[in-house]
Amino acid sequence: MEPLALYYHPESLEHDTGPHPERVDRIRAITQVLNAEGLTRVSPFREPPPATLEQVTRVHQTGYVASVERLARQGGGALDVDTVVSSGSYRAALRAAGGAIAAATAVSRSEARRAFSLARPPGHHARPSMAMGFCLFNNVAIAACEAQAALGVGRVAIVDLDVHHGNGTQESFYEDGGVLFASTHQYPFYPGSGGINELGAGAGRGTTLNLPLPAGCGDAEYLTALDRAVVPKLERFRPELLLISLGFDAHWADPLAMMQVSIGGYVAMVERLASLADALCQGRLALVLEGGYNLEALAYGVLALGRALRGEPWSDPFGPAPTRPPLANVDRILDLTRELHGL
Ligand SMILES: [Zn+2]
Repeated sequence: MEPLALYYHPESLEHDTGPHPERVDRIRAITQVLNAEGLTRVSPFREPPPATLEQVTRVHQTGYVASVERLARQGGGALDVDTVVSSGSYRAALRAAGGAIAAATAVSRSEARRAFSLARPPGHHARPSMAMGFCLFNNVAIAACEAQAALGVGRVAIVDLDVHHGNGTQESFYEDGGVLFASTHQYPFYPGSGGINELGAGAGRGTTLNLPLPAGCGDAEYLTALDRAVVPKLERFRPELLLISLGFDAHWADPLAMMQVSIGGYVAMVERLASLADALCQGRLALVLEGGYNLEALAYGVLALGRALRGEPWSDPFGPAPTRPPLANVDRILDLTRELHGL
């Protein structure tokens, strides 16, 4: 079995957002660093097929998907204040969803031990009926549905480490007890959702877990949040597949958010979750890229994670946050979360 399958397709570059934080250069920076540092010599990029309409419409309304296709065909335009479509965006979005599906498939079929889809546009804000927050199709949600519909996987857990709340993913599974959604995010912050009391509804009540963290949290707070809330929740849920929405925008150098996580902190979090996947679901762990807007932190973060997932030495060229504020107090949030979820 391959230790790590990396998915990338050049169509990611055809989603042309112009002068925008979520830009073509993000993926260029990642591919340049992974190639220069030799990670792609040992884990060569695999090109995923595009997602099919059947796969995409398990999450998204048919009319919405058609509207993205139409707008791209007409040359592009804006779908909301910060989400734009270019002529190549529909192709890129289908390929990004396809990358997440391919990553989930590789680990579910034991072709690879871990997998990571490096694609854009990102997905976790995309709602079933509309684009939002740089996202067109919800790649990780589409992958979770594919795993259940076509790969023989039952319970799927999605852990969202992007600094923003994955509102689109939460909405996709809010009443679905078969998919656990757990998110750490800066709060209050864009997109405004992700409060502690958003727990899921109906059959999905209790399978949404939100950890709204104050600005300024770093490695220690994030790891505590994982250990005290996410890990016990996952142990109880017993997923058969673990997906991570991996945004690097909680990094201290990120220009959009105000968290203090280091690359080493990201590696530590993913290693925690990887050990959990080993214990709970035969190691089936797939990562799907979301945000991350400091190009070097993003690229070297992906490199470090790739090496760590292969079980090899990694490094954090940025180190910890240079001006670390005092530890944020997350005890109350974690106590409340544990109480709400009966942990
Ligand atoms: Zn984000």
